[in-house]
Amino acid sequence: MSRRLGISLGVDLVPYKYCPLNCVYCEVQSTTNLVTEREVFFPADEIINELGDFLATSPHLDYITFSGAGEPTLNSSLGEIVHYLKSTYSTYKLALLTNGILFDNPKVRAEALPCDIVLPSLDGATQSVFERINRPRAGLKVQDLIDGLICFRNEYSGKIWLEVFMIAGINDSQTELDAIATAIEGIKPDLVQINSLDRPGAEAWVKPMSLAALKQIKSYLTARVNVPLEIIAKLKYNDGGTHLDEELIHLLHNTLKRRPSTAEDLSAMLDIHINEISKVLRQLHLDKQISVKRETRGVFYSWIH
Ligand code: SF4
Repeated sequence: MSRRLGISLGVDLVPYKYCPLNCVYCEVQSTTNLVTEREVFFPADEIINELGDFLATSPHLDYITFSGAGEPTLNSSLGEIVHYLKSTYSTYKLALLTNGILFDNPKVRAEALPCDIVLPSLDGATQSVFERINRPRAGLKVQDLIDGLICFRNEYSGKIWLEVFMIAGINDSQTELDAIATAIEGIKPDLVQINSLDRPGAEAWVKPMSLAALKQIKSYLTARVNVPLEIIAKLKYNDGGTHLDEELIHLLHNTLKRRPSTAEDLSAMLDIHINEISKVLRQLHLDKQISVKRETRGVFYSWIH
């Protein structure tokens, strides 16, 4: 279960841990191979056969997602694997989680075109902040990252959800937010998702931002860009139950309008205790916002409107 994509089959295309960046918040810890060169890594046939075996059982999936312990576009077989999935299992939707660094390469952009959704990251839009947060391989320029994403937007008709990871005191200044807003205007994503630390990252000094601060950032950016924004940071805050419920209702709305789910599904997906989920579901049912249907796997909730 993925909060952003529903039931997602993660396909890890690179060994631990190949990436052109070494982000201070990376949940897979420090990058050991700070590279931009693409490689085969694993024979494409092996990946294709393994995917074929699994998909032949017709599993229910919302997405097949290229992600994992590094940057998936570093795998030079990406295009071949995407082509195989789109030609053999066209009913499955493909998602690509990427840092976007290689999108200045037209070949990489062309390989990503058949994906249904691409989720790049942009945590800073000035070189100094890019270097502090993402610690790129020497020579990488944030403007090339932004320009690559703008080129991709011009070529691609699928969805782009841009993630911005916030760190207090580093990328939350007015100057940086203005630069990020300018980049967003150029990239024209379909959605901007504001995130903050969830699990321990590569560096212990990176801490989660408060919900209040994330809301301020969201308001600031909303006034500057013509793109929907949402906060996707998990709800482990201690700044009052009202905010928690408000954000939880928002998350439940986003999830249940996409697919009916049980309270257990929602608890696992959102990483929120089932008692908290059940309390809000009860209220939403009383308010006639959700419907309830008992099936063999349990009680399923759906968003009505
Ligand atoms: S781009 Fe992703 S995988 Fe690479 S260091 Fe940053 S968070 Fe980790």
